[in-house]
Amino acid sequence: MLSNKTTSSAVRSAINALQHYKVLNTLTNDCFDKALETEQQISIEKKNNSPLYGRPILIKDNFCLRDTLTTCASKMLANFRAPYTSTIVQRLIDHGCIIVGKTNMDEFAMGVASWGAFGPVANPWSLTKTTMTNVENNKTVLHVAGGSSGGSAAAVAANFVSIALGSDTGGSIRNPAARCGCYGFKPSYGLLSRLGMVALVNSFDSPGFFARNIDDLIFATNAVAGPDDEDATLLSKPFENFKTSNELSKEKKKIIIGLPDDYDVNTLSSEYRLCWQDLVHRLTETGEYTFKRVQLPYTPYSNAAYTILSSCEIASNMARYDGIKYGYHTKNIDKNKDTYEDILKKTRDESLGERVRGRILAGNYYLLEENYDKYFVQSQRVRRGVMNDYKKVFEEDKIDCLLAPVVSNDPITLAEYEQADDIFSEDDIFTVGANLAGLPALSFPVRLSSKGFPIGLQLIGPFLKDQELLSTAYRICSTYQFPFLDLTKQI
Ligand code: GLN
Repeated sequence: MLSNKTTSSAVRSAINALQHYKVLNTLTNDCFDKALETEQQISIEKKNNSPLYGRPILIKDNFCLRDTLTTCASKMLANFRAPYTSTIVQRLIDHGCIIVGKTNMDEFAMGVASWGAFGPVANPWSLTKTTMTNVENNKTVLHVAGGSSGGSAAAVAANFVSIALGSDTGGSIRNPAARCGCYGFKPSYGLLSRLGMVALVNSFDSPGFFARNIDDLIFATNAVAGPDDEDATLLSKPFENFKTSNELSKEKKKIIIGLPDDYDVNTLSSEYRLCWQDLVHRLTETGEYTFKRVQLPYTPYSNAAYTILSSCEIASNMARYDGIKYGYHTKNIDKNKDTYEDILKKTRDESLGERVRGRILAGNYYLLEENYDKYFVQSQRVRRGVMNDYKKVFEEDKIDCLLAPVVSNDPITLAEYEQADDIFSEDDIFTVGANLAGLPALSFPVRLSSKGFPIGLQLIGPFLKDQELLSTAYRICSTYQFPFLDLTKQI
């Protein structure tokens, strides 16, 4: 599976592409020099036979890499160098991956546009629709890449690197994967260590990968999954490697797929609904799949529950950013007058964006004694309802997985996005359910829309049936050819 790029300098090619397409703003910071050095070194040592050996990869800028900036695309952490390396990143390095840079994202991974303190990531497909050569900062020509892991998704979709790391708390891997046209896999909660991944919502956060084929998703996941003494929320059972396509292609079991009526929402565009239906028709014709309509009645409340529960955890997690121990510290201090609270307030006002401050405020509001039952406890009930909905369809309706949309329409331009009032996203309704229930979910590109943007769909599987989900995705995606983008050809 090694790309032949590894025989020359794969790292050099990735760097060239990233530099050439700065307009996409995929990186918050790079480690180009270190990456070239490492490539030299490891080509001499050749320590293992991992299919990841020598491959350049990118990691979302909410994963710690020792002595390297870890900004979460926030002014708050703009100068923060991580004192240690996250488990996942360390395991990638141990497999011979070469980290080329940290990818741009929504501030602290909140959002769906990958537009943090360092500007927006642009959707790579925008560049196929313009003849303008200088599109830099042209927000009317560039489109939203999805989020919050948009930098990782855009870089893989454009073929700057073949694998990138992201995180999915409410859809942040699947959403940009669908918007940019690549695969995005969020494994079951508890399979991948969260140590050294900056916490957004501890009980939903899941690291995961972007790739241009399912084998690469599997290689990367196999390299990092499994117990970690430093993360008590992980399953303690040793991880058994997922099978890759060689072994998968022999499996021919008939698959029963559920189509959740409750995901067929009003906001879903007719074109995206048609793509969903067409895939169902095509797969039915093969005779290898049976489709069943299923009900997930808690779906309409899932986004509200996600919003409340996530804001509560965010309010608690963000308390650590006081500007005293690390991170941004206000210079605007009146030494005779300002209290600790004043300094904290100024520090946060100056360094955190509106969305982040809004969620901290909302979370603290929901957690007030008089609101606690009304919001937090009620949302936990909805979360339980969502989990039971899935359990019922998997166990009683006996379906293997669900097939559903990821986003409802083509991406808007960055200029349109700037005008829109988007604190919370309607499209999250498609993705948050898997996080509320900790289920594995995989977004895959299906075809291009009439305007030439990728349309993705997702599979959601039962807890810990990640292998089955990957196998089904592999089988489905082998029935057609998606026209993957490769911007490196034009360099
Ligand atoms: N859009 C969701 C949010 O803003 C998803 C975030 C995520 O998965 N990191 O909370």
